Amino acid sequence: MEYYSESLSKLINELARLPGIGHKTAQRLAMHILKVPKEESSALAQAIVEAKEKIRYCKVCFNITDQDVCRFCSDPRRDDKFLCVVQEPKDIVAIEKTRDYRGRYHVLQGAISPMEGIGPNDIRIKELLLRLQQMDVEEVIIATNPTIEGEATAMYLAKLIKPSGIKVTRIAHGIPVGGDLEYADEVTLAKSFEGRHEI
Ligand SMILES: [Zn+2]
Repeated sequence: MEYYSESLSKLINELARLPGIGHKTAQRLAMHILKVPKEESSALAQAIVEAKEKIRYCKVCFNITDQDVCRFCSDPRRDDKFLCVVQEPKDIVAIEKTRDYRGRYHVLQGAISPMEGIGPNDIRIKELLLRLQQMDVEEVIIATNPTIEGEATAMYLAKLIKPSGIKVTRIAHGIPVGGDLEYADEVTLAKSFEGRHEI
């Protein structure tokens, strides 16, 4: 049974599709949007449209950016000798917050997961290997999540990269197993970088 008008139901349903937003939260958000001045709700709608239109993937590392090349790839002060491999753009944000890492990044845009039918060709591994051929990298730091998928991806990458003579390290498990890099606090994440080990 529909309790709300059609347009309000539509708004609630759209909000409820967002990750981490249940139906109750969606209702609360929708009610809030109705209450705020029109300019405020328009600004939100506009920001969503603009982000979708302007934001794309960095041509080099596949981070999200509104330029062709993201700021981590274009910054000449960053160290080309270190390449940190992460699953998602949000992981870069988590690592940057530690302020300890000054190398480059590569975003896989996922992890290998046979359960979900995601194989090596479905994430940005080919592009990573190509970059390693072109760059003068001394160490690849694999910072995928400490989950089954993240670990499987790390092992797969290590096997592929090691024959080229590049050092491959894995960040230490200061992060709880099954956890998400994004939710690790800065100290834990900084420690797991310090304690990284060769694989
Ligand atoms: Zn980039």
